[in-house]
Amino acid sequence: MRSSVFALLAAAVVGVVAQETSPAMPPLEKRALATVYTKCKVANTVAITFDDGPYSYEQELITTLAKYKAKATFFLNGHNWACIYDDSRIAAVKALYAAGHELGGHTWSHANMSSLTWDKMHNEMWKVEEALIRIVGVNPALFRPPYGEYNNLALSAIAARNQSAIMWDFDSGDSSGKTPAQTNALYDTLASKKPSSVLTLNHSTYNTTAKQTIPHALEVLSKRGYKFVTVSQCLGGGVKAYQWTQKAGVKDSTWKC
Ligand SMILES: [Zn+2]
Repeated sequence: MRSSVFALLAAAVVGVVAQETSPAMPPLEKRALATVYTKCKVANTVAITFDDGPYSYEQELITTLAKYKAKATFFLNGHNWACIYDDSRIAAVKALYAAGHELGGHTWSHANMSSLTWDKMHNEMWKVEEALIRIVGVNPALFRPPYGEYNNLALSAIAARNQSAIMWDFDSGDSSGKTPAQTNALYDTLASKKPSSVLTLNHSTYNTTAKQTIPHALEVLSKRGYKFVTVSQCLGGGVKAYQWTQKAGVKDSTWKC
């Protein structure tokens, strides 16, 4: 270390940053990148995840999930299909949290993180965090980048906000034009393959997902003996859903989209 310090001082004295030519210089520290999870770690678990809410089908999903004692994870937007501060959406977010489902961020406006500046990334993430802190009193630690798109700058921003990026290893296809029959067939194939664990992607914004796809998925996967858990549970120890929790707020005129 002594020689490194000496080399740093020497470089400062001559006014030259010589990290490429001086072997004594320590490498520049890389900015930390967020961990990206694409799979569950706990055997025999399925993490059912929903993106793009809150919208109109959360209550129905809560009822259906409860029939299978299933806990799921919802990656929420602030202002996408609806405004998270509308009374009905606030009620949906509170109901999801009260039912034991996990809540994560998915950007305020469903922005493609890989196309944003550093400041805009933080703004997109913070506004959803603020909404979740206000509505249910949780600061999320799980984040799903919209479209599954991210670059190293996005991973740096996610890390700076003490969060992890959560991807998936099974896509129901509900947001890419698949019919309910097709999404159900995909779940049938998944169940017949019976991987050790599954991290699914669905969207809580489609009537057909709430009424057909998820009831079918829960039925065929439960028959294979899986346990339906949240993302933090399926990742095992060490990954928390929330950075911290506090008392929920009360809506006022500043809660707006
Ligand atoms: Zn999305």
